Amino acid sequence: MTKTERTYLDWNATAPLLPAARQAVLAALDMTGNPSSVHGEGRALRMLVEAARRDVAALVGAAPAHVIFTSGATEAANLVLTPDYRMGRTPLAVGHLYVSEIEHPALREGGRFAREDVTTVPVTRAGIVDLDALETLLQGHDKAKGLPMVAVMLANNETGILQPVKATAEIAHRHGGLLVVDAVQAAGRVPVDIEVLEADFLILSSHKLGGPKGAGALVSRGEVLMPAPLIRGGGQEKGHRSGTENPAALAGFAAAARFAAADLAARNARIAALRDGLEAGMRIATNDVIVHGVDAERVPNTSFFSLPGLKSETGQIAFDLEGIAISAGSACSSGKVGQSHVLTAMGFDAALGGLRVSLGPGSTEADVDRFLAAFSRIVSRRRAA
Ligand code: PLP
Repeated sequence: MTKTERTYLDWNATAPLLPAARQAVLAALDMTGNPSSVHGEGRALRMLVEAARRDVAALVGAAPAHVIFTSGATEAANLVLTPDYRMGRTPLAVGHLYVSEIEHPALREGGRFAREDVTTVPVTRAGIVDLDALETLLQGHDKAKGLPMVAVMLANNETGILQPVKATAEIAHRHGGLLVVDAVQAAGRVPVDIEVLEADFLILSSHKLGGPKGAGALVSRGEVLMPAPLIRGGGQEKGHRSGTENPAALAGFAAAARFAAADLAARNARIAALRDGLEAGMRIATNDVIVHGVDAERVPNTSFFSLPGLKSETGQIAFDLEGIAISAGSACSSGKVGQSHVLTAMGFDAALGGLRVSLGPGSTEADVDRFLAAFSRIVSRRRAA
């Protein structure tokens, strides 16, 4: 390995752009026209945007008409998490948001709800949303204020642990509420079907799938009950999200969605074998290593671990100096390595922190070997110190 050669093992932060997505972006950038224009140029771009909508809908078993394109998952979360809903033309209030403690900040911040109208739902030590606690919270929900809304993720971005979304839907619906599912880290890693999950809304992000950054979607199960728009203006996206669409980003998103939907099982079996090999290799190097969620159902690409005595930021820098990009938990705020709110929620000593390795379709055995060689060197240095 040359000094400049890097090994990228941070696919949950963002996936490298797929060649097919790059090609689709470049081809769309060369097209002139506004998708809302009625002339030939505009119509060609409208066709491209609608084809992208079909591809993204197909990834999650939704109707194309139920896909609203946004600038990413964070915007989709801020669109859907609002007290202000319409049932057809009739205003309908959502009174309170119940959001799991391990949500990404895009949802945990509560979108457009006032702080006092947001309650976090705890998770168990196993890193799974506590359904008994949710049930109790919803029993105490004040219906006079409006419907309850529940937000959970399908796969956690730090641990990869899959959440009991269907059971959550059952509880939310029994209490007359709505369920929002963040499927950002699940799409392309496990099958995702909005009907099977019984989610009312589902959130997706292009760049986690190998599409370009700056594109995402809010997918709904129906069209009758919809949130008030976050961005008002020219009425694009049926008025749900105004502003001229970004056809290049959407074409790339669609290419990534097509890739994610194809050969999922075979791809995942290969990635799971790499991840399992990586975890076995870490255990051979040291029996100190704690792999979080190892006994839980997880997406196949993620490994979140702690080494007693090794702070996550020190570990992350040590791996970076070895030419390996991994993450200390989530990587969503400008270079900041904070304590893992997920580990805290799971009752671990979060001051220590965790390190996340996340793989993807482009990951190879050589990547895992390089990681393990670096891991052994870091462990030996730590022992010597
Ligand atoms: N939800 C989860 C689970 C994520 O991991 C991320 C990004 O890290 C987001 C939401 C935000 O996605 P975006 O970057 O598209 O705003």
